[in-house]
Amino acid sequence: MAKQRPVTCRECGKRRVKALTINPITGKQRRSTINICQDCHSKTIDYKFFSSSFGQWLRRAFQRQCTNSIPKNTNELRDLIYLWKFYRKACGFKSDGEVVTKTYDYQLCHIDPLKGENGLVGKLISTNLMIAPAQLNRELSNLPFPYNTQQSVQKGEEITDDNFKEICRQRYNLPLLAAEFCMIPQKKNKALPVFESLGVDVQTTLSKELKRLGFPVDHIIEESVSHKHNKTPEAIALDIFDTFFKVGGTLAVSQLNNYRESNDEDGLSKESIKKLLEYDYTLPSEKLRLSREKRKQKDYWEDIGF
Ligand SMILES: [Zn+2]
Repeated sequence: MAKQRPVTCRECGKRRVKALTINPITGKQRRSTINICQDCHSKTIDYKFFSSSFGQWLRRAFQRQCTNSIPKNTNELRDLIYLWKFYRKACGFKSDGEVVTKTYDYQLCHIDPLKGENGLVGKLISTNLMIAPAQLNRELSNLPFPYNTQQSVQKGEEITDDNFKEICRQRYNLPLLAAEFCMIPQKKNKALPVFESLGVDVQTTLSKELKRLGFPVDHIIEESVSHKHNKTPEAIALDIFDTFFKVGGTLAVSQLNNYRESNDEDGLSKESIKKLLEYDYTLPSEKLRLSREKRKQKDYWEDIGF
């Protein structure tokens, strides 16, 4: 490798050689493209994670948890990031350039409650959370739960703004997660773009979430079925969410099965339902890589005259 000439570090102002950086996904080493020294680079390596919108959400969420109830390693945190992304996608967001509104008002609801009996704390992990209509979470927040899914723990050390970053650094590979999910810092005071995402309706979210949590679900309440009961699919789904939190998943699933299209030909095809019920676990970094490769291939075909 060529001998490195010192540059002025843009963080500390000292004349030093550029930092050697490691791609967290591929493990490949290269010199930093910006003028930053090794010391300063090490300090900013988890900046992307903490200043991303997920990082900011996590800081607030951890403050209601404790050291025993948060994801115990990188893999558990990765599962939580996936769920958080599914939750955001389900909500759907609309921005007029000034105000952002949700299309559907969902929350990530604890299954074993956050504040359980005898000082138990419900874990903040993907298997103990469900994307559900926000109105249910508010109504049920003070109700004791009828069952315990063994996802509660005794209260541990509190998490505050003072120890939050240190706890995260000890447990998780933050640069890896930031790279996998293409996390970018959320800049304050930056002009808001105009955008709209549709979100996922309540009856589809119900079926997807029950399936993700391990229940045997293979259909979504359809308009044609709900008509026969003089209710909207959304109202029926809300009722079933309510059953889930009050009585449990098994009864919720059997209630859902009462609203099955008896004549298969009237509803959506089995293939399209199966697709609707699946969550996409492709990492954003992988999607980016694939789209780049596709582009390359397209360029190639254009190059040879197609
Ligand atoms: Zn420096």
